Amino acid sequence: MVFTCRQCGTCCMYLGDYIVIEKQTGLFTFACESVSTGTPFVAVIDEDKRAIFSDHSFPDQHPHACRFLRPDGDLVRCTIHRDSPAQCKYYRCVVMRISDYAGTQIGYVTGNLSLHADDPGLRAVWEEAEREIPLRHPDAEHLFRQVLEAHGYRVE
Ligand code: SF4
Ligand code: SF4
Repeated sequence: MVFTCRQCGTCCMYLGDYIVIEKQTGLFTFACESVSTGTPFVAVIDEDKRAIFSDHSFPDQHPHACRFLRPDGDLVRCTIHRDSPAQCKYYRCVVMRISDYAGTQIGYVTGNLSLHADDPGLRAVWEEAEREIPLRHPDAEHLFRQVLEAHGYRVE
């Protein structure tokens, strides 16, 4: 599936400890650190999001959310889209939705190839595939998909 971010903000709701503002250096400019990689970066609030960023009620109500997350109508958006760290830019919350033979979705796979499913049969198939396919294989996503389809699952 081609991944399209719906800008729901769910993945950023608990990243306040990972994307950290070290210092405000200008009206809309911040010295930051991506804690998980130990990478410093400069963030300038996107020009078209400065109005929503200036309303601090959302971060006040959600202390664990990333400090740069803000609601915008029906969306919950990153206000530093241009300057956000690479792991944010390339994050994909769903790359496969897995259904059983009846068409009922029973699991999904994230961009780092983690299965989220309770179904024991699906979990067993996935774990067996994990023993065979190195996650760093350049075609790993496609190979996992082939294994699932060979076992009768539908993958979108
Ligand atoms: S990547 Fe994050 S913001 Fe985008 S759809 Fe997935 S959970 Fe929502
Ligand atoms: S920098 Fe943007 S994409 Fe990254 S966690 Fe914060 S709000 Fe989400």
